Amino acid sequence: MTFEELGLEPNTLKAIVEMGYTDPTPIQEQAIGLIQMGRDVMGIAQTGTGKTASYTLPMIDILSNGRARARMPRSLILAPTRELAAQVSENFEQYGKYHKLSMALLIGGESFGDQERALDRGVDVLIATPGRMMDLFERGRILLSDVKILVIDEADRMLDMGFIPDVEKILGWLPPLRQTLLFSATMAPEIKRLADKFLSNPKTVSVAPPASPAELVTQAMVVVEAHAKREALRALIQNEAVANAFIFCNRKRDVAVLYRSLERHALPAGQLHGDMPQSARTETLDAFRRGDIKLLVCSDVAARGLDIADVSHVFNFDVPSHAEDYVHRIGRTGRAGREGRALTIATPEDARYVAAIQKLIGKEIPQVTLDGAAPLPLAEREGGRGGRRGGKGRPAKAEPREKTERQERTVEPREKTERRERTVEPREKTAEPREKAAPKPRAERPEAAERAAAKRPARRGRAPQPADEVEEMPHGDDVLAFGGHTPSFLLRDPFAK
Ligand code: AMP
Repeated sequence: MTFEELGLEPNTLKAIVEMGYTDPTPIQEQAIGLIQMGRDVMGIAQTGTGKTASYTLPMIDILSNGRARARMPRSLILAPTRELAAQVSENFEQYGKYHKLSMALLIGGESFGDQERALDRGVDVLIATPGRMMDLFERGRILLSDVKILVIDEADRMLDMGFIPDVEKILGWLPPLRQTLLFSATMAPEIKRLADKFLSNPKTVSVAPPASPAELVTQAMVVVEAHAKREALRALIQNEAVANAFIFCNRKRDVAVLYRSLERHALPAGQLHGDMPQSARTETLDAFRRGDIKLLVCSDVAARGLDIADVSHVFNFDVPSHAEDYVHRIGRTGRAGREGRALTIATPEDARYVAAIQKLIGKEIPQVTLDGAAPLPLAEREGGRGGRRGGKGRPAKAEPREKTERQERTVEPREKTERRERTVEPREKTAEPREKAAPKPRAERPEAAERAAAKRPARRGRAPQPADEVEEMPHGDDVLAFGGHTPSFLLRDPFAK
């Protein structure tokens, strides 16, 4: 099938040709026609499948008829992160360059004034993160009664980030008579519930993840002790012909630490994480695109949605705790038909995370060794969960409690600015993130018991026992209670004269 056969407008086709696209991708083949017909669509597709164009292209055609009124956008696209929102708006500009559509990007970190002025002029397409969107609506700066098309992009990420209640609230402000397009990489029960509630007779289209993971990406892994990770990274950078690279850390704070370390070693590095102001992020990305920065240390969220075609390497400074993040990370290289290399630095304690990744990608990541180093086995050590993961010198916590960037994402706040941080709960708990649960009694909070147990000094010469979970009396010996011993003062007859 060709783009012409999909019935797109000549001006849209012209822009597509200029983008160098020859054929529609499978999601585009399936979704474009349905969207043109005005159907609601549930699209199961990941980044890299061409899903953005699958909705932007038909939207451009639909919106090319009609005019927007002041502060009344005609379509709304909700994206979980600023980067993705910016990427979508870039695509609109590219695909819509021969149309006179007006667009506004409402994301935190950018000046309210500029965004509001754009809205006042009237926009055909409003692209927003949920936080900023709610903020402006609640301050009466936007009217949503004219929205004819709503897109919720990367709904699974919205779920991860605790945005679903915000999205539901926004959906409640929209006119019921509209076309709704929901895109998600997975069909989690919460996403299904959202679709059932807000989509009207939707058509589901689903495509496989993009040749997963990019067949043009060569993958390898080195296993080193946690304290040797930075050195290993520098050795890898030296050994490889790195034109430019993303270097992923699991936590935002490690991004800054690693960045400073690379700078100290005079490597041309930059950093990108959720706590940086938007202007600094944009500046860093531009410097990376220009090649002034060759090594971009980043977090998963910050790198999400970035579409830089020519990245030679991806380094995983940390093995991601969520296997699908690995696929997203290494998909930053090997794009647009170019070859790429993805190198992961693991520690022996990462065994189970590596196993999960290998299971997901359906193959083993070959282990390589650094010059002269003996291979280190990647095997769960005794007490491996208590070993060190993530960064240098920080003891890891039990997995569900480990606060990776997935859980400490910076999200768009409602009233304040972009930079307020919300710590979201793991997936199962995000259904009611705004409701403050009553504190559970201690016995129901295994994590509290774990923390308490971790704080208690382990007794010398004795491996931690299940009984260590029990709150102990502060005896110096092994007595947990009186047990079989009867202390002598109890044996004394108190009435004896
Ligand atoms: P997305 O899944 O929307 O993140 O798109 C992934 C990448 O595919 C982007 O770099 C797009 O520019 C590119 N792309 C989208 N549609 C096509 C197409 N039909 N042919 C080639 N590349 C495409």
